[in-house]
Amino acid sequence: MKRILFLILLFLYCGLSYAQTTDNGILVMDEFMVPSKRQHIEIPGFDGFQALKCDFHMHTVFSDGNVWPAVRVGEAWVEGLDVIAIADHMEYVPHSDDVKVDFNRSYELVKSLAADRNIILVKAAEITRQTPPGHFNALFIQDASALLPGKAVPENDKEAVAKAVAQKAFIFWNHPGWKAESIKGSYDWIDFVDQLDKEKNLHGIEVFNGDNFYRKALDWAVDHNLTVMANTDVHGLTAMTYQLGDNSHRTMTLVFAKERSEAGVREALEAGRTVAWCGKYLAGKEAIMKNLFQACVNPGKPYQKKGTTRYFEISNQSDLYFELTRKVDNRTETILLYPRSSQLLTAKDGENSREYEVANAFVRGNQNLKVQFTLGD
Ligand SMILES: [Zn+2]
Ligand SMILES: [Zn+2]
Repeated sequence: MKRILFLILLFLYCGLSYAQTTDNGILVMDEFMVPSKRQHIEIPGFDGFQALKCDFHMHTVFSDGNVWPAVRVGEAWVEGLDVIAIADHMEYVPHSDDVKVDFNRSYELVKSLAADRNIILVKAAEITRQTPPGHFNALFIQDASALLPGKAVPENDKEAVAKAVAQKAFIFWNHPGWKAESIKGSYDWIDFVDQLDKEKNLHGIEVFNGDNFYRKALDWAVDHNLTVMANTDVHGLTAMTYQLGDNSHRTMTLVFAKERSEAGVREALEAGRTVAWCGKYLAGKEAIMKNLFQACVNPGKPYQKKGTTRYFEISNQSDLYFELTRKVDNRTETILLYPRSSQLLTAKDGENSREYEVANAFVRGNQNLKVQFTLGD
């Protein structure tokens, strides 16, 4: 009996060890394969709003991009995004000899795939006029083919935007300083944009596009109360554009929404509750930036007291980076708060609060965020 049991166990063991190395004659060698996982980006919310990570400007083969729409959804899943919008050019379709021109197709192809991956897909298009006036993204459209495809001539610039207005789109001005250095370009608050703004048909502006910070655009966002946007405008693979990994991320708009839904995204964009994020840099309106900072950074309580000096461990629970600076006598003191980490800070008795400038966070084109926090007992 014992002998039979031993043989059964031996047989099972051999079967198991065989299954580990080969599977019906196929050996899996996945050591160098990319693990299937979705990155978590830690950005706390505030005042009951949650932070959604969004990219509202990217291209596919249905305009001048080099990837199929499903790749955009796959990238967004891996990189931990909540919301994406494929905004293919209306007036520029260089792949038309190979890909049938259909401005709704990139959305239709991946609508259910995005839902399966828990990604909110916003229907969009890029109104691609000569510069000036430049390019405008229209979000939450119903029918891209009812916009104005074809030749971008000054005579129908207004009509092109009006078609998006007719669909109650959320419209933002893309890369406002693009081609600024060329004779044809401009980097000004032009009449065309001024009129759109006065008619309440301009809702947002790209402050960050790819790795460019349009400083003037942040001033215009503040002065004209436009929503601050940051997007990749990616045409190839994001992995060939950004050094992706757990401590890295693509350029994106942080949207502070009441709920994680398309309606929630729209409400937050219309209310202007956004922060632009590129590399270690942040840009946005002062009140929102202050709220975000407070939600991320906490000096805590002193853990030690030596003489009149109190010791704090100031912590940053987010994936954001904060470079805090202040003038002490004649020198600049800097505290680098790396993502999800802490730093030491000391304060004398009686010093109950601290003010810093955040050198990597902008509230105007040339003005940094100022923050203050309490140093309790
Ligand atoms: Zn393009
Ligand atoms: Zn563009």
